[in-house]
Formats: sequence, C-alpha cells, structure tokens
Amino acid sequence: MSDDTLNMTDETNGDFPKTERTKLKRLPKRGAFDRQTVYGILDEGFVCHVGFVADGHPVVIPTAYGRAGDVVYIHGSRASRMLRAAGAGAEVCVTVTLIDGLVLARSAFHHSMNYRSVVIFGTARAVESDEEKTEALRAFTEHVMRGRWDDVRWPSARELSQTTVLALALEEASAKVRTGPPIDDEEDYEMKVWAGVVPLETVVGEAVPDPRLPAETPLPEYVERFDVSTRNES
Ligand SMILES: Cc1cc2nc3c(=O)[nH]c(=O)nc-3n(C[C@H](O)[C@H](O)[C@H](O)COP(=O)(O)OP(=O)(O)OC[C@H]3O[C@@H](n4cnc5c(N)ncnc54)[C@H](O)[C@@H]3O)c2cc1C
Repeated sequence: MSDDTLNMTDETNGDFPKTERTKLKRLPKRGAFDRQTVYGILDEGFVCHVGFVADGHPVVIPTAYGRAGDVVYIHGSRASRMLRAAGAGAEVCVTVTLIDGLVLARSAFHHSMNYRSVVIFGTARAVESDEEKTEALRAFTEHVMRGRWDDVRWPSARELSQTTVLALALEEASAKVRTGPPIDDEEDYEMKVWAGVVPLETVVGEAVPDPRLPAETPLPEYVERFDVSTRNES
C-alpha cells in the first residue's frame, strides 16, 4: 500500500457515481455524493454499522472503523463472524450516522432529526501482509485520535496474526443530510405549541488517567485539545 492511500487527508476529487443502489429515491434533495461531504461524515464518526448476510439471514453489527484516503478499515478478532463473513467476500453495506439535533414539530407526524449519514456498498478485502495490516492499524488509531500512533507500542507479529483487518474501498457511497427547523403542515403553524430544534453534540469530558499511570506522565497535547468534530480536519 502506498503512503498516498494511507494519507488521512482526502486528495481524491470528484463525486461518487450515483448507482442504482445509491441513488436516493426518498427526499433526494438531502442526498450528497461529493467526497468532501462523505469523508467529512466518516472522519467525524467513531462507529459504523456493517450489514451483511450470514447463514442466509441479514445481520447488522456495530463496530469501530477508520478511514485512510479512499479506504475504510475495520478490524477485530479472527473469531469475529462479521470479519470472517466480510473477509470471505460477502457483500457489505456499511453505514455511519451522526445526530445533530432533535427536530420537534407541531405534529407528532413531522418530528424528525437533524443528521448526517453515509451508506457505503462494496465487497471488503482481507488485508494479508503484516506491513499493510500495520499501516491499516495506524490509520485506524489515527482516525480515533490523531497523534496517538507515534506514542504507543506498535502491534507485534503475534498481535497482527490475531487480528483480522478488512479494507473496504470507497467506490459506491452516498450521504444524506438533514438540517434546519421542522417542516409542519401549513395549518399547524397556528398552534401554540413549542417547535424547533434541540441541538445534540458529543462533548469531550476531562481525561481520566489510568490509576497505574506514573504520576509524572504528562497529558499529551492531542488529548488535551481533542475535539470530536474537527479532529480529522486537515
Ligand atoms: C438519524 C436518522 C433518523 C432517520 N429517521 C427516519 C425515520 O424515522 N423514518 C424514515 O423513513 N427515515 C428516516 N431516516 C432516513 C432514512 O435513513 C432513509 O433515508 C429513508 O427511510 C429512506 O429509506 P429508503 O430505503 O426508502 O431510501 P432510498 O432513497 O430508496 O435509498 C436509496 C439509496 O439512497 C441512499 N440513502 C438512503 N438513505 C440514506 C441515508 N440516511 N444516508 C445515506 N445514504 C442514504 C443509499 O445509498 C440507499 O441505498 C433517518 C435517517 C437518519 C440518519
């Protein structure tokens, strides 16, 4: 794998193609296919949901992920059914969802949420070489907290052999974004009931040192300054 592929920044321009699978039929005006929007959502998220068919029935499993360039990596134990199924060539559908607000309308029917979400389709590739696995785990670690990889012990050969890493190329993806106030039926705007948006965001709490941490160990700057929404901006 080249360094370019693993660069955390997005150097690939151009929109994702609208395919039969990704073309939004429901509220298409909320759709987005530009890489900036899709990658912005992926870079802010921590958890994806991996959907696949195993033993004849659909399964959706939440898991952590990382993006590096045009690839999303997921990883885990070799015993994971999800990783075994997806690594054996099963088609997957991966989603990432960010919630920005609760949209309270005047009618129960028009309640909604402000959100940014991504849907990705593809067939994952099992990462085989230790070199690429290490690079993928670096991308994974840096996705969660940029700056961390340089401080920590890198995976040993044994740890790598116990870890399955899958790479999902970002080739077929869509984003959908809802913003703004509720959209009520015209006659309901006369109602004397509060309506609007309750914003939601992920707030970073104060870091709690491990009880076994030597007292003199300084808090890394990247932890002190950690910001969920901007952490992967260039
Ligand atoms: C937090 C949240 C809450 C939601 N609540 C509701 C709800 O209560 N009821 C409801 O009907 N819908 C809700 N949605 C929207 C929902 O995700 C679907 O977009 C919608 O239900 C239409 O589904 P569909 O299969 O008919 O979409 P279609 O338009 O037929 O989907 C076609 C393609 O469009 C793309 N697409 C569709 N939805 C999304 C998406 N959300 N993100 C990225 N790409 C997408 C995919 O590539 C998909 O394969 C919510 C979305 C989010 C993120």
